[in-house]
Amino acid sequence: MNTGRFAPSPTGPLHFGSLVTAVASYVDARSKGGEWLVRMEDLDTPRNVPGADMDILHTLEHFGFEWNGPVLYQSTRINAYRRALDRLRRGGHAYPCSCTRTTTEPCTCTSGSRWRVRFPGDDFTVFRSDGIFAYQLAVVVDDAYQGITDVVRGADLLDSTPRQVHLQHLLGLPTPYYRHVPLVVNDKGEKLSKQTLAPALDLTRRNELLDQAFRFLRLPPSQRAELFP
Ligand code: GLU
Repeated sequence: MNTGRFAPSPTGPLHFGSLVTAVASYVDARSKGGEWLVRMEDLDTPRNVPGADMDILHTLEHFGFEWNGPVLYQSTRINAYRRALDRLRRGGHAYPCSCTRTTTEPCTCTSGSRWRVRFPGDDFTVFRSDGIFAYQLAVVVDDAYQGITDVVRGADLLDSTPRQVHLQHLLGLPTPYYRHVPLVVNDKGEKLSKQTLAPALDLTRRNELLDQAFRFLRLPPSQRAELFP
């Protein structure tokens, strides 16, 4: 059986771009009779907004999404990330780095609290200097833990996918199928986000917004009717 997921960060309310991503993974999972899980990616504590998680879940419910099982909060999974980082260290795949510059060259630092993983072209961070496990590591550990077989997400994460597949190989974890959907942009061509001041989903326009999301994804209205009655 296939299992998909939606993994919002509780940094603010959902916007139309989030709705499109959620619909894409939901339709993919449900149309194959699979499960669909929600994971709260709340590790980046400085960016978390209190109450945003409940607001997101309420919005999903209002639009008619039904998820399987309890919502997984990444903040409860620190020990699992620590074990994964230890494994990368022991295998000599992660190295400590105190560079502050962004570099495309492998880093040669030997001290510091930041840990990076070697990756052809551009090494990447798995443990941040502020003591927070990086998105790339957490997402890989949790996609495996939750048995995710199909990741459907925005094209802004295309660059992350080879890094995540690399970590799966290093950690002996299975690789799900990945698909990336086109990004919704505003009239300036910017990705919808908190930074570009994307408006929160208007709960009073549920049907209209769902129709728009289905049209954007070129998904048939029959699926819209079946999955979001
Ligand atoms: N939490 C990430 C975000 O809000 C999504 C992670 C993913 O889908 O892999 O953009």
